[in-house]
Amino acid sequence: MAVIKAYHRPTSADAALMLLSRRGVTSVLVAGGTAINARRDLEFDEIVDLQAAGLDELHRAGDRLTLGAMVRMQTVVDSPEAPDLLRDAAHREGPNTFRHVGTIGGAVAVADWESDLLAALLVLDTDVNVQAPEGHRMYGLAEFLEDPAKALDGGLITSISLAVTGATASDRVGRTPADKPIVAASGRRDLLGRLHLALSGVAATPILVDPDKVGDLTPPDDFRGSSVYRREMAVLLSKRVLAALA
Ligand SMILES: Cc1cc2nc3c(=O)[nH]c(=O)nc-3n(C[C@H](O)[C@H](O)[C@H](O)COP(=O)(O)OP(=O)(O)OC[C@H]3O[C@@H](n4cnc5c(N)ncnc54)[C@H](O)[C@@H]3O)c2cc1C
Repeated sequence: MAVIKAYHRPTSADAALMLLSRRGVTSVLVAGGTAINARRDLEFDEIVDLQAAGLDELHRAGDRLTLGAMVRMQTVVDSPEAPDLLRDAAHREGPNTFRHVGTIGGAVAVADWESDLLAALLVLDTDVNVQAPEGHRMYGLAEFLEDPAKALDGGLITSISLAVTGATASDRVGRTPADKPIVAASGRRDLLGRLHLALSGVAATPILVDPDKVGDLTPPDDFRGSSVYRREMAVLLSKRVLAALA
């Protein structure tokens, strides 16, 4: 277990980046802490806490909504600006106490393969803004999720931006309605009539899928669902979501 030698609470993303990029000091970045506080395997000297870095703004411009990386799940749930699909997914991320702490940037950085929230963000055409010592980079969420460590590469997520228009639907299976889903599907028909379908629990991270190729997936398996079960659920849930959007 790491012995913490210093704790920093920078007041800007730039100041956080400077702290993270010091040579000879191993620092860990903390947002809400819900995932990282459970890690006992990390070796680091110092903590860089993002809570005062001013990344908690939420604003709408046209048909896009921008969420600072430190926007909490409960803020998303409570926001009338956020699409219902996203508000529902944020609500299902965890209990009330967790939702007041966990952040949207943390969820994107963790890239949990069973994240219902990330499947919703994928169909909402989400971009991820990363600030690095060498400048700003923007990724489509699907590209970011292909290799989050490579996309971050010494940088930090400052915000995400997503579409608020279109018709949406989602469905999921889990051991209980309140449990983390085993497989979840989110869909959106955009204003041009194009369908976007995303699944979680079927690959190393949530993915966008071609509706005609869901049956070709070869999901990983674990104690909560075999590969065959996950594929069958992916096909079933995709059908339901697409029917709701027809
Ligand atoms: C009870 C419980 C239920 C959970 N359920 C889910 C779930 O259903 N789906 C799910 O996806 N996850 C789940 N998680 C995991 C995790 O809590 C969430 O992904 C959460 O939103 C992480 O946000 P955080 O702000 O707490 O991140 P932290 O724990 O602070 O950080 C997590 C990781 O992300 C990095 N990070 C955080 N913010 C940034 C940033 N802005 N830029 C770059 N890196 C950053 C940190 O350095 C760290 O490595 C759950 C956790 C708990 C405790």
